[in-house]
Amino acid sequence: MAVYQHILIAIDFSENSVKALKKTLQLAAESHARIELIHVVDIPIYPVLEDVAVLGLPGIWDDEQAKSLMTLSEEKLKKWADKYQIENYKTIEGVPSSEITAIATVNKADLIVMGFHGLSGFRRLIGSTTHSVINNAPCDVLAIKLDG
Ligand code: AMP
Repeated sequence: MAVYQHILIAIDFSENSVKALKKTLQLAAESHARIELIHVVDIPIYPVLEDVAVLGLPGIWDDEQAKSLMTLSEEKLKKWADKYQIENYKTIEGVPSSEITAIATVNKADLIVMGFHGLSGFRRLIGSTTHSVINNAPCDVLAIKLDG
């Protein structure tokens, strides 16, 4: 098996993320790889309710709410990074699958570790984020199964 040097681990704070993170630590220790931990915050741009848009009321996701969502996510990621002693971590705003693929490309990751599924979707099916990353990633992708 290839020896990886730069492992990108993407988490959504689900149960699967804990398992993926532990697997990453194990793999990194075996191959002396660097770990980069990321979480992507997908902030809706448009008001969630059509009525809000039609009536011209302020959107549910205004700037203040977006900022506080980013701050909460940053704090949560920092807690996870501290707990697992990972120094290189970042919270990014955007579409999770696109950002994970972009970061892996720019930072030249040679392995992406993710949950087979996460917070969304059916347990038995591969998650849409993981499916998209597998199709577009510039490197190997390891999808961790919760009951695997
Ligand atoms: P999903 O496809 O949403 O079921 O999630 C599958 C996996 O994609 C999760 O276990 C995470 O590893 C990753 N993932 C999903 N959403 C995010 C996110 N917002 N930020 C980082 N990784 C994510």
